[in-house]
Amino acid sequence: MAGSIQRRRAAFVHALVATAVFVAAAPASASGQGAAGSGAGVQQIDEAYTAKIKEYLQDPRITTELVDHLPLSSTVPTPLKFHGRIVGTPGELTYAKDIHRYFEALGKASPRARYWTIGKTEEGRDMVVLAIADSATIANLDTFKGDIAALSDPRKTSEAEARRLIGTTKPMYWLTSGIHSPETGGPEMLQELAYRLIVEETPFIQQIRNNIITFITPVIEVDGREKQVDTYYYNKKLPVGAARLPLMYWGKYVAHDNNRDGMGQFLSLTKNVNDFFLEWKPQVMHDLHESVTYLYSSTGTGPYNEAIDPITVTEWWMMAQVDVQELTKRGVPGVWTYGFYDGWTPNYMFFVAHTKNAIGRFYEVQSYGPDNYEVRPPATTTSREWFRPNPPLPYIKWGPRNNTNIQQSAVLFSLKHFADNKSLYLENYWIKNKRAVEKGKTGTGPFAWVIPAMQRRKADAADAVNELRKQGLEVHTANSAFTVGSLDVKPGDYIVRGDQPYRTLADMYFSVQNYSPSNPSPYDDTGWTFQYMRNVAVLPVGEQSILDRGMTAVTAKVHAAGGIAGTGAVLIVDHTTDNNLMKFRTTHASVRMQAAEADFEAAGRTFRAGAFIVPVGDRAKLEPTLRELGLSGYAVAAIPSVKMHDLDLPRIGYVHAWQRTQDEGWVRAALDTYGVPYTYFADIKLREGNLRAKYDVIIYPSVGGSAQSHVAGLIKSGDMPLPYKKTAATPNLGVNDSADDIRGGMGIEGLTELYKFVQAGGTLIVEGSTTTIFPAYNLTSGITVESPAGLFARGTILRGVVTDRTSPLAYGFDAQMPVYFNQDPVLSVAGSAGLFAGGGGRGSALSQNITPNAVRLRISPWTFGASDSTGTPMPAAGRGAAVGAAAAAGAGQSGRGGVGGAGAAGGAGAAGGTVFGGATGIDGSRPRVIMQFPANTADMLLSGTLANGEGLANRAQLIDAPIGKGHVVMFAIRPFWRWQTQGTYFLGFNAILHWNDLDAGK
Ligand SMILES: [Zn+2]
Repeated sequence: MAGSIQRRRAAFVHALVATAVFVAAAPASASGQGAAGSGAGVQQIDEAYTAKIKEYLQDPRITTELVDHLPLSSTVPTPLKFHGRIVGTPGELTYAKDIHRYFEALGKASPRARYWTIGKTEEGRDMVVLAIADSATIANLDTFKGDIAALSDPRKTSEAEARRLIGTTKPMYWLTSGIHSPETGGPEMLQELAYRLIVEETPFIQQIRNNIITFITPVIEVDGREKQVDTYYYNKKLPVGAARLPLMYWGKYVAHDNNRDGMGQFLSLTKNVNDFFLEWKPQVMHDLHESVTYLYSSTGTGPYNEAIDPITVTEWWMMAQVDVQELTKRGVPGVWTYGFYDGWTPNYMFFVAHTKNAIGRFYEVQSYGPDNYEVRPPATTTSREWFRPNPPLPYIKWGPRNNTNIQQSAVLFSLKHFADNKSLYLENYWIKNKRAVEKGKTGTGPFAWVIPAMQRRKADAADAVNELRKQGLEVHTANSAFTVGSLDVKPGDYIVRGDQPYRTLADMYFSVQNYSPSNPSPYDDTGWTFQYMRNVAVLPVGEQSILDRGMTAVTAKVHAAGGIAGTGAVLIVDHTTDNNLMKFRTTHASVRMQAAEADFEAAGRTFRAGAFIVPVGDRAKLEPTLRELGLSGYAVAAIPSVKMHDLDLPRIGYVHAWQRTQDEGWVRAALDTYGVPYTYFADIKLREGNLRAKYDVIIYPSVGGSAQSHVAGLIKSGDMPLPYKKTAATPNLGVNDSADDIRGGMGIEGLTELYKFVQAGGTLIVEGSTTTIFPAYNLTSGITVESPAGLFARGTILRGVVTDRTSPLAYGFDAQMPVYFNQDPVLSVAGSAGLFAGGGGRGSALSQNITPNAVRLRISPWTFGASDSTGTPMPAAGRGAAVGAAAAAGAGQSGRGGVGGAGAAGGAGAAGGTVFGGATGIDGSRPRVIMQFPANTADMLLSGTLANGEGLANRAQLIDAPIGKGHVVMFAIRPFWRWQTQGTYFLGFNAILHWNDLDAGK
């Protein structure tokens, strides 16, 4: 049966070679393998390599004429010659360091390739790139770099010059992979692809090599790749039935979230990708992943990010359809588009391309393995749908060579299409850059954005400016004071001009998101508004005249004005919630500092509760730090008459779970950046007890999962321990932490020790999933964890209302602030929450809703003042019309497009959901609600999405729960969400700084 399929395929492929591909200069060989000539004669194939390709392929349908052979070269080493095995060999994985060595060898062996490093990882490994084109192009790469730079900036390039370049220069296509470490095939395949692009002399490959510049970065997450390979070979040696070691850490900070750093750009890999992108400005960035059945070429279900030029949307579709069409034409099943991912949030790494008017796209491929396996997908994956005319099969034998063949073929078709249409893509690119500039010059605006330099959080504002500049946005400062519209611009205020090509980034980051819940379920966050997350005023300007005002380009890192004003022995630094204030405290850990417990007057101004008071201000020591950090100190003669307490820096224990190390690193990122020391240890060590003797504060960031799963940890299956440590066989493991056995979690013993720690005066800080542990085990009083039916609040920015401004946790903050919340936990404190009445759900799925964005959500307005923000909800008309109402209006026509779109929905009506945790615990003291959601749903949503917000009305966002002599500080919001929520970091820092004075103001 397979044989007959193979024969029919061979005949079909011959027909394709004869008709679709350029006419070869030499006749095809009898075998049809690697047949076409270069003009100098038929290129020989590497028989040994080609035989192995055939041997390892698990199903004859998963191949094309492009990858069923490898051409021979006398000068360039094949992966087989270099590594001793072909790409797609079952049971083997290649370390990044060896992949890099191979790429380096390719660069040395051929004038058609150049290899260089593009930066270091956190653990000190290299990230690399290999450029491939014809030898003349490689010899003149900088010329092409200059051409593309010219096409990137219509302010400097004339239309005539652009037209000339569109006809003569070469576009660039950047292939990346290996960002998600368990998705192992991309880095392997790219080695063979690189060899093929350099060596092969078919017209197909020549067309690619002669017309475009291909960049390849085979491994983005280099640290994680080495751990993955270690882990694979470690597990391979275990006896059958023994528990397998999971891949614990990838990079130093995060795991799968490493491609959700596109906006924040904290991780070294993102910074290196961003720098490379800004230098070369490739028109396409194509990231290779593995997760779905066979091969998905990205378009997404929508909604698409609204700042992306409409041209890009058509480019996504054109490219994806080429992949689907060419592979479908060759009888390769299971290549599809649309039904996965949306295209909405810009936090993906490849949005580095979209913010710069280029194209970001990705594949998801059936896993490499690397062991052979069988795939039996469910009917929802194998049904024939419009977006997968030749769907995956109910059963197939799969293996690493299948993975290599399918994704290498698809990439080659993409590259060929890009080369065939290079002028089209260059012209589109030019038009997108031009339109971006015109939008800010003569279009609808905004014409600029003003970031007041002296706003209350001026150090964080400077930070924001530095980050935006690093990502490619041009920033100016006002030369003098002027008024534009109702806005008073002061000298030195930052101005982001709207008439620059990368204003796309500004549009994307500074806009307010409105994600209708009638859309398919979102793939990730729905709201990200930069200035809300950072709590930094960024003010759009609707008057074109601002562009003519005197301003100076910022050319270096900016600092907020800082230092010490006045004279006197006492130094006061206001609590602005600037994150550098934490750095100031930790930089001078040995200096005694105190905090005011109420607002007070001094030095002719009002200071807020929480202001730092340094009784014997050592000016010579402290002033340079304040200047460096952009913080203002005021020297006065005497200590102000206000109640205060010491800012004792605690001994911090930082707990992670062996169960999952995905999110906790974002909290570490904040602590490391602001100089907060901690002892890092695993949940299983909580069992050892004696915690209060060792720590004053324990931070246990979100893990994900239920309270019970936190206590249980990794299940103890099998009778062998599961070690995670550096050994000769696993040299890359055990960097962040290690253990002889990672199973078992904290257990009830650990939970008891944690409880004893708090009772004895310690402060436990929990956020997200770890917040639920104490209520679930009834260890806190009066706090319940609810699951409101129908609540839909996926990765969204909601209004935070401070209900107890006397608590040290709220020091420095305004009465309200934007907060990031992601669906759960929903915390209710006895007596504070209203009765929950469920919402209307999301409508029936009887008819397809093809215009989900026709009905928009009501967004509650948020106003930044230039120096302060109270964020008072506007009592506008229509208030009281619940957010849910907008969604309900769409109901009845709201289908749920997309495949596997889980989440949100669940129409249920009246109150419901699981409620656990008693109203009174074993300790009688009452929890103190510091922040909560608004009472009225119409006031909740600032950016993103929300449906059935009634379930959040008056629910707690931040609780200080006293137990014995200590406290549990519980965040239902996520103060340290990725590297994006700098505006709420100080809620966490306050908990640390005031850990033993949390009862102040009670
Ligand atoms: Zn992935």
